[in-house]
Amino acid sequence: MSQRAANRARVVSVLRERGAQSRRELAVTGLSRSTVRSVVDELIEAGTVRERPAPKDNRSAGRPATLLTLSGDLGLAAGVEIANGVIRAAICDTSQELLLHDSEPMDDRTTPEAALERVSALLDGMLHRLGASRGDVIGVGVAVPGPIQRNTGLNGRATTLKPWVNVNAATLSAKLLRLPLTVGNDANFAALAELTWGAARGLRDVAYVYTASGIGVGFILNGALYAGANGTAGELGHTTIDENGEVCACGGRGCLNTLANADSITQKLRRSHRDRLTIAEVITMAQEGDVGCRRVIADAGRHIGLAAANMYNLLDPELIVLGGNLAPAGEILLGPLRESMARRAIHAGEVLPPFIVGELDEHTVVVLGAAAAVLRDAEAFPLPHV
Ligand SMILES: [Zn+2]
Repeated sequence: MSQRAANRARVVSVLRERGAQSRRELAVTGLSRSTVRSVVDELIEAGTVRERPAPKDNRSAGRPATLLTLSGDLGLAAGVEIANGVIRAAICDTSQELLLHDSEPMDDRTTPEAALERVSALLDGMLHRLGASRGDVIGVGVAVPGPIQRNTGLNGRATTLKPWVNVNAATLSAKLLRLPLTVGNDANFAALAELTWGAARGLRDVAYVYTASGIGVGFILNGALYAGANGTAGELGHTTIDENGEVCACGGRGCLNTLANADSITQKLRRSHRDRLTIAEVITMAQEGDVGCRRVIADAGRHIGLAAANMYNLLDPELIVLGGNLAPAGEILLGPLRESMARRAIHAGEVLPPFIVGELDEHTVVVLGAAAAVLRDAEAFPLPHV
């Protein structure tokens, strides 16, 4: 590859991985400002890169007025999430713009085959609405809850959607979706979404705490997703908080999930409030001042803070982002969480990393991240003009 081609490839790979960038931000390529300028001109000329106005809130304090992105007409990337009670899908173009998202309720006992058939139909309907076809799709990211074992490709026993335990989601999805795909864990994909579009943009070491039926963490370490040797990194929900606590679905005792996930929070209110409260209802009541609801959310925050302190002590992220169904609780959860974390985290005179709520909507963060995984994958998404 000639030097010029290598320089073009560097700029393209940064736009692929980091999303829209200003010319100045492209300094991370390691290329000089004048080289960036001429390479960008070539790529715009070739139709691979396009300029677009920066969001308004980005324009203050000398921020650039325009950002560079990959051209949007190089194909479509889809993201799919199979979650408890729902399937979701999103379609983005190659400039990383969300074109359409949709969802359908789904019974948790649905077999993986039936779930994927419905995903396939949902995608076809969405492509039709966009005036596109399967041929335009460069890949689908499929998010499943719980870890995927790296060697076998099977969903582990910690998977909260029981029909999916010991299922090879990649093989089955390939057969039923008939599109190029990448399969991953929901928390990992959500972390990618915040890295590409949200609170973690431009950062290198981030922990994304995703609260769904269980609590998982997506790690971005050194700018890349970290899944671990077996694919089970980040199972924060299965770290032990109380050795003598309740037995967890994984077989352990006193895991964080048994103390702080949505189910355990709503169950604590069964006697005082009523049966079958949803976590969204508990959060709304807490925001309206219900003391009992505030108390159980604060307790969950303290437990998550303990687990987060251990995680921080081991990995030292620069930012911790909270997403998922507990995120709307905001400071009711985060206040006690930070206090609990600060008591246990080592921070020899240093400031603890900010622990904040993510910027992306809880209903689209995973599907967006699944699409981002496709767009970041150079093999799935070759660029014609580079
Ligand atoms: Zn467990």
